[in-house]
Amino acid sequence: MLIVQKFGGTSVGDLERIQNVANRVQKTVNEGHQVVVVVSAMSGETNKLISYAEHFSATPSSAEVDMLLSSGERVTAALLSIALNEMGHPSVAMTGRQAGIVTTSRHTKARIENIDPSSMQKGIDAGKIVVVAGFQGVNEEGIVTTLGRGGSDLSAVAIAGALKADLCEIYTDVDGIYTTDPRIEPKAKKLERISYEEMLELASLGAKVLQNRSVEMAKKLNVNLVTRSSFSEAEGTLITKEENIMEQPVVSGVALDRNQARVSLVGVTDRPGIAAEIFNALAAEEINVDVILQTVAHDATTNIDFTIPTNELESAKSIVKGFVQKGEIKSSDYNESIAKVSIVGVGMKSHAGVAAKAFSAMATENINIRMISTSEIKVSMVIEDKYSELAVRALHSAFELDK
Ligand code: ADP
Ligand code: ASP
Ligand code: MG
Repeated sequence: MLIVQKFGGTSVGDLERIQNVANRVQKTVNEGHQVVVVVSAMSGETNKLISYAEHFSATPSSAEVDMLLSSGERVTAALLSIALNEMGHPSVAMTGRQAGIVTTSRHTKARIENIDPSSMQKGIDAGKIVVVAGFQGVNEEGIVTTLGRGGSDLSAVAIAGALKADLCEIYTDVDGIYTTDPRIEPKAKKLERISYEEMLELASLGAKVLQNRSVEMAKKLNVNLVTRSSFSEAEGTLITKEENIMEQPVVSGVALDRNQARVSLVGVTDRPGIAAEIFNALAAEEINVDVILQTVAHDATTNIDFTIPTNELESAKSIVKGFVQKGEIKSSDYNESIAKVSIVGVGMKSHAGVAAKAFSAMATENINIRMISTSEIKVSMVIEDKYSELAVRALHSAFELDK
């Protein structure tokens, strides 16, 4: 088999752990498989590099930020390859560019447009273990880009797709996908399997165990994706098509996103096209808007509230300011101390009363729900941030996920 193995930040967190990764890769190779490895930067490294850039500028130029951040992954790729060579396994380390990864030019959140796997394939054919620096690519001009936080997951899945690998294994510090973040709810249970759809919702709604775009790509390219621990031999969780899952509970998991802010637009001119203008302006800056609330118009104006990731707040503010100056919005208000809790499950499609049960769980804990949004397979609630963990545990137990 050809297997792509991705090791996250904690798994390559120090030299001893990199040696541990080398041993794991060796084991897979000795079992007769071909292996391409994708690595993250050592844990904490990306944050450290960001803080270095911010030492010099509150708004460091994004091309230079990408140049800086991409170095973290290069360090681990090179070290792992050195370790493997020393163990007698011919290995070659590659940057994103050398691996043939071409992206859009959108610095710090570039999208993969194309992968030319020929260099990687050449390495594999020569019997080498190819080790690729994750999280990075180059645009068409050859300028370094990065793929957004957690983007090494995406590198791994995209490489698995391009090489038509049999399996893509994501090694991390938990031994699979749990019913919720086990750091918040120790009673969380490991799932044997989860559908691409549910995993995509969980990842998009805050479960950072997999980057959401990596799940989207795995689904699109039909990549067999497994999440497992680099610190144990436990089986892990298979992310697969819905039809491969026998038992479908109503709710499969609970996600929490504390990195959310609420934007409130007061006195928005009530005319056709205004929402399109505001949200197009946000989309042009790649700001991910989630829950949207519009109140009934009154005095020819209306109020629109929505949530966005906290780290997009500054750019959202400057867009809103433009509309205020044009007189299209009277005033605005921002709240960063909110969080979003969500329940996800494909079984919801065929069950009534799921949202009601979630609201009751919040009521029992006296947690006020500020905003609600639903789809066929999820219910999200915006609450005060301080109730985050309580809300997760309440939902987890209301839907008997600990059973
Ligand atoms: P890596 O550095 O390996 O990419 P991450 O820190 O990005 O690892 O993701 C792993 C973390 O995701 C876990 O330590 C866990 O706290 C968190 N997590 C959130 N939701 C879940 C979930 N449903 N199942 C498992 N882990 C989860
Ligand atoms: N090192 C990058 C990050 O911390 C990418 C990754 O780890 O996946 O976001
Ligand atoms: Mg990650």
